[in-house]
Formats: sequence, C-alpha cells, structure tokens
Amino acid sequence: MPILSATSRRIKILIVLVIGLFVGVSLIASGLDRHADRLFDPLRAIAAPRTPSGKIVVVEMDAASVAAIRQWPWPRDHYAMVTDRLRRAGAASITFDVDLSSANTPAGDRSLAAALARADGMVALPTFAQQARSGDRRSIDALPLAMFRPHAALASVSMQPDSDGVVRRAPFGTITVGTPRPSLSAYIAKRSGSADTFFPIDFGVNPERLPRLSFIDVRDGRFAPDAVRGRDILIGATAIEMGDRYATPHWGVIPGVIVQALAAETLLRGIPTFGSAAIPIALALLLGALAVVPRRLVSAWLLAAAAPIGLAGLAIVAQSTLGIVYPVTAPMAVLIVIHGMWLLLRLADRAEQQRCIDEDTGIGNQRAFLRDFGSAAPAPVLVAQVGNFDTVVTLLGERAGHDLILRLAERLRIAAADAAVYRIGDRLLAMRLDMSAEERVDFQEGLRALLTQPVEILGRRVDAAVHVGIADQGQSLHDRLIDATRAANEAAAEGVFRRDSTVDVEAMERRLVLMGELDQAIARGEIEVHYQPKLDIGTDRITSVEALVRWRHPVRGLIGPDAFIPFAEQSDRIGPLTLYVIERTMRDLGQWREHGLMLSGAVNLSATLIALPAFAQAVDTLLAGNIVSPEHLIFEVTESATLADPERAAATLRRFRAQGVGISMDDYGTGQSTLSYLRQLPLTELKIDRSFVQHAAHNHADALMVRSTIALAHDLGLKVVAEGIEDQDCLAFLRTAGCDMAQGYLISRPLPVDALGALLRNRLAA
Ligand code: C2E
Ligand code: MG
Ligand code: MG
Repeated sequence: MPILSATSRRIKILIVLVIGLFVGVSLIASGLDRHADRLFDPLRAIAAPRTPSGKIVVVEMDAASVAAIRQWPWPRDHYAMVTDRLRRAGAASITFDVDLSSANTPAGDRSLAAALARADGMVALPTFAQQARSGDRRSIDALPLAMFRPHAALASVSMQPDSDGVVRRAPFGTITVGTPRPSLSAYIAKRSGSADTFFPIDFGVNPERLPRLSFIDVRDGRFAPDAVRGRDILIGATAIEMGDRYATPHWGVIPGVIVQALAAETLLRGIPTFGSAAIPIALALLLGALAVVPRRLVSAWLLAAAAPIGLAGLAIVAQSTLGIVYPVTAPMAVLIVIHGMWLLLRLADRAEQQRCIDEDTGIGNQRAFLRDFGSAAPAPVLVAQVGNFDTVVTLLGERAGHDLILRLAERLRIAAADAAVYRIGDRLLAMRLDMSAEERVDFQEGLRALLTQPVEILGRRVDAAVHVGIADQGQSLHDRLIDATRAANEAAAEGVFRRDSTVDVEAMERRLVLMGELDQAIARGEIEVHYQPKLDIGTDRITSVEALVRWRHPVRGLIGPDAFIPFAEQSDRIGPLTLYVIERTMRDLGQWREHGLMLSGAVNLSATLIALPAFAQAVDTLLAGNIVSPEHLIFEVTESATLADPERAAATLRRFRAQGVGISMDDYGTGQSTLSYLRQLPLTELKIDRSFVQHAAHNHADALMVRSTIALAHDLGLKVVAEGIEDQDCLAFLRTAGCDMAQGYLISRPLPVDALGALLRNRLAA
C-alpha cells in the first residue's frame, strides 16, 4: 500500500492544511509577514502602472529656483508672488508643503499674509509634527504663523515612514494641537477619513509623469496659464539640498512633495484600503487543497509553482480593480508549505514504492509482499522457485533470466485469477493464495499445466524448471514465506512439478567448440536441409514442407539445429546459413515441381535476422533469382523475433509478403503476443506450438487453448498448422477442431530431400 493510499490521503491533506494555516497565522501574529510583504511592493508598482490624472501640478522649488533666489530661507515675498500668479492664472487650489511655522523677514511675511488674504481660502498651509529632540519619542506640533492662518486652510503634511525608513502609506488626517486636520492628500482629493487612519499610497502612479512647473518660472510669470487653470497646485521643495526626501518602494528616494502628490493621486481614484489577511489565507487553503489533484508528479510540481504565482496575480488584480491591498506573504507561505509538504510526502511515497519494486522486472519484491499483506488475515503463501534461472542467465544473458521470471510471474498470476505475484529472491516468486480449498485444487491443477509449458525467450523455447512450495501454517507472514521457500526447495529435490531444462551448460559449451567449424561447414557441403511434410487435414494431402537444417559433422555425425542455431545466431553466422537454407529449399521445390509435386516450402527465420537490412536485401536477390516463384515460399518467425523491434520486423515481413512469400507465426502460444499485435503483422499462417497440441486430445485446458487459437486465427484470416502430431487421437481431435494442417512424426519425421520425394510419390501412387 503506498503511503498516500486513498484512506490516509484525506487525513494527510487535512494535516498539511492545518500546518499551512498555522504557519500563515504565526507569520501574521508575529508581524513578520508585513516585513516580507515589502518585497512585493515593486511588483505591485510595476504590475499595475498608472499615469497621473493631470489635475495635480507640482510647483518645484528646484535647483534652478535656489540658484536664482540665492538666499535661504527664502524671503516670503517670493511665495506671495507665486501665490498671486497662480491665483490669477485660475488655479483651483494652492497648497504649500513648506515650513511656514517661524518668522522670516517682516516685510516678506507681511507680503505673504496679504497674498493669502487676496486668495481668501484658496490656499492650504501645512501643519506637521516633528520630533522634540533626538531620542525623544514625543513630538511637537507645528502650525503656520498666526498671521498666515486667518485666510488659509490647514492640512497636515506629516509623513510616517515604516521601520525600514520607506514611506508606503499616508494618513487621511492627523490630530495637530488637539484638532483633527485633513492630510494634504485628503485635502487636495477632497476625501474624508478619520484622523490617524492610513491608506496605501499607489506607487503604480509614475511620479515622473506628474505635471511640474519650476517655482522661479512661476514667480516670474514664465508659464502658460492653461497649465494651471482649474488644477490643484502643490508647492514644495525638490532641490536636493533642501533635504525633504523620502525613500519609496520602486521609485527610490524622491522629494516629499512628490510623495504627497502621489498620495493625492491615489485618493483621486478612490479610497484604497488594506484588505484583511483572512481572505487570501482562505484562498491559499483552497488552492492548497488542490495539491491532491495532479496524478503525475510533474503536474504536481507545476501546480506547486503556479499556485503562488496565481495568488500574487489575484492580489495585484484586487489592488488595481478594487483598490484593496491584500497581504501576500502569509498566504503564499501557506501555499508553499502545503504544496511543499505534499510534494515531499509524494516523493517519500515514491521512494518507498521504489524500494518495494524489483528493479530488473518491475514486479513487487519481498518488502512489497510483507507491506501489502503484513497486516492482512493469514492465508496460505505459495513460493515458486525457478530452478534453471542461473543456467538461463549464464547461457542467454541476464535479460533472458528476467524475461523468464516475468513470464512465469504472469502465468502464476493468470492461474490464481489475477492475484499479485512478487519476486522475493533472484529465482523466487511468491503469492498469497486467497482461495477456498476446492479452488486450490483447481488452481494447483491449472498451475501444473501452465508451468510445464515451455517459455519462449529471445527466440528460443526454454522449459522452466519450476518447483512450488505452499505454507499454510506459521504465525507471521514472514514465517510462512520461509516455510513455503523451504517447501519449494524440497519439491526441487523431489522433482515435483519439475521438468528438465532444455538448456544444459555442459552440452552447450561442447557445442560452442563447433562454431569455429561451422564457418567451413557450408562450403564443405556438410549442411543438409531435411524436410518435414505438412498435411492438409481437409484433403488428406501433403501440400507443404518445412525445411529443417542439419549438420552432418564429419566426426560427431548428424547434429540437430538446437545444437548450433542458437550459437550461430550469437556469433553472427546465422545469415549465410539461412540464405543457404532458403536457396536450397527453393531449388528443391523447383525440382519437385518439375516432377509434378506441387509443394510449398517453409523456412525458419531467426529473430536476429529480421531486423538486419543486409539480410533482407540478400533475400530479395534470392527471390528475384527465378529459382521458383516466391509464392511457394513461407517464412516462419517466432513471436519474440517480431517483438524485439516490432516496427522494423513488421516492415521487413511486409516487404517479403509483398513479393508473395507467406508469413507463418511459429511456436504460437509460448510467447506473449497480443491479438492486436498479431494484427499488425502480414501473417498468412499460425503454427500452434506442439506443447499445446500434443495433449489436446485428452487434456481439457489444452483442448480449449487449441480450439480458441484456431477460432482466433480464422477470424484473422490465417491458416492454422498444428505441430507435433504424434498420434491418431491428436489428428482426430484437430480434424474436429477445424485445424487446417498438421505436422508431426505421425505424418512423417523430417526427411532428407530424396527420401521425402520418394514418400510423396508413394502417397500419390497409393
Ligand atoms: P520448429 O520450427 O518448431 O520446427 C519443428 C521442430 O519440431 C523440428 O525440430 C521437428 O523435427 C520437430 N518435430 C516435428 N514433428 C514433431 C513431433 O511430432 N514430435 C516432436 N517431439 N517433435 C517434432 P528440429 O528439426 O530439431 O528443429 C528445431 C528448431 O530449430 C525448429 O523448431 C526451428 O526453430 C529451428 N530450426 C530448424 N531449422 C532452422 C533453420 O534453417 N533456420 C533457423 N533459424 N532455425 C531453424
Ligand atoms: Mg518452424
Ligand atoms: Mg515450431
């Protein structure tokens, strides 16, 4: 059971969600999220850019003005002149962000007081709070001189940078000298709000695009009145030496008057608010719960990356459309914690699953077996030991060994109605037998039949030597595994379920020596082709023969193909040998035809050859050589031959088929081809392996297999040949089963060419 099995899944995600929520709430409670949120300020500014409304015009006390006036503080008559100029040009309002709380030159001060009186209420003057002395947290409220106040409104210009010195928010108003006063921005935008409540300044407004005039130009009348008419004018210092500068997110350090203008622009568009963290946190939990959705790990990673980005996007949309500034760090942390933990759980799950899988075959290992059934009710345990596993690995290679295990596991699974099979050791398979006593009898019967069928591996039929042990006592599952393994060992010793392996190391080593000699064998004429007839069951006539190669060795005598074909394949000698057999067969077919024996001939093609372009070309040349029409030729291939590289094999076979050659699937039933796969091949014939045919007349299971194969082959439009017919009962059975052709010792053993000719002539004469 994987860690994230369905039942525990819900509980796990619940725990992960709670931990995520806890992290989010802790971040908010500790105030850490506010600090971290500042990292998103530039993003907020960039993501929703705005141009200023144009209603607010800044009159800059800039470097040019400082240079022109050359005196600091400026005598107030300069402000008086500017006030008069702006009033006359039709400004809607004039606001000073200039300290007017102390006296300057008496004449200048009088002149400003007079200008203010003329403007009568159009002008707002600043009040502000400043620190009493360094290290003192109290502040002193500063008001403009009394002489300026009668005809002017008052607005507070105090700034409140955050602890990192960056200004992010502005108040709606402040209480100065006991009286609540609007902030400068609220005053200009004509918005009301309670004193000492704050709103976020929209730094998406580009300060560089605020309309600006130079103070000195205004004083001297060098400006277009249109630039001022109907606008709210904000007068303040922008020259660096005047020092009135604040750090801002995204725009760096900018003059205080510009920050005021941005705050006023913010309010002109509506009143932004700080949204509660509850909503984004709830959203984060919702998005976090989606972590369980992706089935594939890649998609889970993608979702984990996309969810926080989506959340940030939503925050920006909320800010630019609703004017609500939601915190992002805490909900993002919630999301990252949830998705991160879920991913970790999944990775752990995967690692655990990998530890439970046998690398070579992909089936569950002993760990998986114990995990899956460790806590289940006790049931008998079966262990199957593959006695010839090592031999197969030594002779045919590691892959062949794993193939053998896989095929046997598949057979066990089928025999036990789809029960899971585990590989608990190199050569050991195990399964739990969840069945009634009667079912077990049937199962054991079926198992015997299945395990004694040869298995086709790398184009070779291998009889698996399987020994089975079953344990139904024993306290723990582990005990039962051990008992069943011991029983399998004992069975091996007694030969239960045992079939001798066809692969025998010593014999094969002896055969290896032959390989060096095989090279000259063809040239020396030692290679013979014998023919075994195929009987047309319907007409009772021999219509076809299979070419079977033999080596007449000068010392060892007649050697069968099983003794040298596998090695010829491994040492790349099979090509010339097969070409020789094809040519020999074509010549013999031609000869017989000349004598009135109208036969077709089948030649076996090795797996290794089908994928070789050079071989296919050589065959083309032979076929075109006019020895006999390719229509009379059949190539027999095995399932594994075509499975190794299915596309290439199908293409090559189609190429042969296109020239008229028939294609036969040899040893059918020992491999594991699916019906849909067979459909892709240009087959004309199916040869049922003799291991199924031989006992079909008496064995119910085999009969079923043969009958269903015949039906299937006929559905696909194929002729069916049954191999290995040794007795009359078998032939009779095949006749009733509707089989097309029969081949086997009953009809004839493979015969040398002359002997076969004689046999056929006798039959014709009879
Ligand atoms: P195969 O193609 O399945 O050939 C049938 C084998 O079954 C032949 O063995 C044949 O003698 C044997 N046989 C026929 N009737 C009976 C029967 O009634 N009972 C029993 N017990 N056996 C019967 P053989 O000639 O030893 O050939 C073995 C295998 O060697 C063939 O199996 C084929 O796969 C391979 N082979 C033979 N000639 C060639 C060849 O020229 N090229 C290649 N690549 N393989 C060949
Ligand atoms: Mg054959
Ligand atoms: Mg065969």
